[in-house]
Amino acid sequence: MSFFQVNRNCNGCLACVQNCPANALDYKDDGNTRTLLHNMTRCARCGNCWRVCPNDAVEFQHLLRGTWDEVATMELVRCIVCGEPLYTAEFEGTLSKRVDHEVQALCSRHRKSLPLGLWKSLAPVKNQGEGARK
Ligand code: SF4
Ligand code: SF4
Repeated sequence: MSFFQVNRNCNGCLACVQNCPANALDYKDDGNTRTLLHNMTRCARCGNCWRVCPNDAVEFQHLLRGTWDEVATMELVRCIVCGEPLYTAEFEGTLSKRVDHEVQALCSRHRKSLPLGLWKSLAPVKNQGEGARK
């Protein structure tokens, strides 16, 4: 459904099309029908269409609502002590490659507060076959 919506008062006068500063409104004639068109990627949400419409037909409130579109979903890594969300498993993989060792999933609070013994058990795991740097 379009964010730009008109109510039943719209009579197709095209005042909104002619006064849209962003060329976000257009129309097409097809056979016996005329269709009002709106392009959200061009729309500046300036409200001019709503102001110039002589019939109070533009339901501008829909243009202000918008929704959040889910664009990607990934596995979430949480702090192994408190469960606080940290980053995605994919990001962890990227990080591990950068630093060349396994990254421990700890939030900043627990990275600082862990006792030394536990730190040792959580120490970075070196890649197999990796020798000391020369
Ligand atoms: S100005 Fe209003 S009545 Fe005219 S086409 Fe646009 S929405 Fe419809
Ligand atoms: S809000 Fe502004 S940019 Fe968007 S369609 Fe209306 S007049 Fe055009």
